[in-house]
Amino acid sequence: MPAELRDTFGRLHNNLRISVTDRCNLRCTYCMPEEVSFMERQELLTFEEIARFVRIAATLGINKIRLTGGEPLLRKDLAKLVRLLVGIDGIQDVGLTTNGMLLGDQAQALWDAGLRRINISLDTLDAERFRQLTRRDGLERTIDGIMAARRAGFDPVKINAVAIRGITDHEVVPLARFAREHGLQMRFIEYMPIGADEWERDKVYYAHEILEQIEGEIGPLVPASDYDPRAPAMEFEYIDGGGRVGIIASISRPFCNHCNRLRLTADGKLRNCLFALDEIDVKGFLRTSQQDDALVEAIMRSVATKWEGHEINTARFIKPLRTMHTIGG
Ligand code: SF4
Repeated sequence: MPAELRDTFGRLHNNLRISVTDRCNLRCTYCMPEEVSFMERQELLTFEEIARFVRIAATLGINKIRLTGGEPLLRKDLAKLVRLLVGIDGIQDVGLTTNGMLLGDQAQALWDAGLRRINISLDTLDAERFRQLTRRDGLERTIDGIMAARRAGFDPVKINAVAIRGITDHEVVPLARFAREHGLQMRFIEYMPIGADEWERDKVYYAHEILEQIEGEIGPLVPASDYDPRAPAMEFEYIDGGGRVGIIASISRPFCNHCNRLRLTADGKLRNCLFALDEIDVKGFLRTSQQDDALVEAIMRSVATKWEGHEINTARFIKPLRTMHTIGG
């Protein structure tokens, strides 16, 4: 039986988010600056190093993996890493979060490699608004990517949309309609202070406002019957059977008391929270020793020193130095 990664608040950790690159082909204003220097290739963990880390983490109870970036599909041959990870004893589930721009060409290969869960980031259906938000063109390619994921067999295909007051709050209903039309699942995300921009609390568009808009313009929602309280998203179903909507309310309804996640950055730092102010370098261990003990100890220490939760709603909050694209969300 794998050991248990339980922290001092009794939370069991079985979920590891792995950023495979800090590079991205978009420049979302709430995530990264226009001008950015990316990590050198040799700074990134190799697929073999990531697989070794996951093998060890699996012996400690990690059984769910999510691949993130930057934009993970920019990492060459990502399907090869997926194949490595799904083959590891104890790993039950491998997912991916992508901006979808490269999915048109890669969806089938990722599916064939064993990937089964996919979230695609899309904050607007308006090409001009897309350009303003991401500082790049690409709406069509993202929508092509969504359809390619559907064709490859991914079901559900989840769409992540950051709701920002005065910027994307009016996109809630068009996106929700788009998702109903194409059998997709929306995930609306409250705007968090983890990007390169100056976060303003006034710009947070809250979960209850998102729900009110959808119920007011599309139809009534009820809590989903199989809602998992440990999952970040609160899940709702349309009573007319028109699908599901999830809301990740990190600001108004933090879910830290059920947190089961650890994060591994592309340059080999282990973080026990998205907003952590410190991290443990595991790349050194992976590159200098075949002994796994140091890695086991590092993972256990990361969990043992985990705080109760983010402090965004307190005067103590300190924004981490790393921005979203170097953590992986
Ligand atoms: S903010 Fe940190 S503790 Fe809270 S749910 Fe996210 S990762 Fe977990």
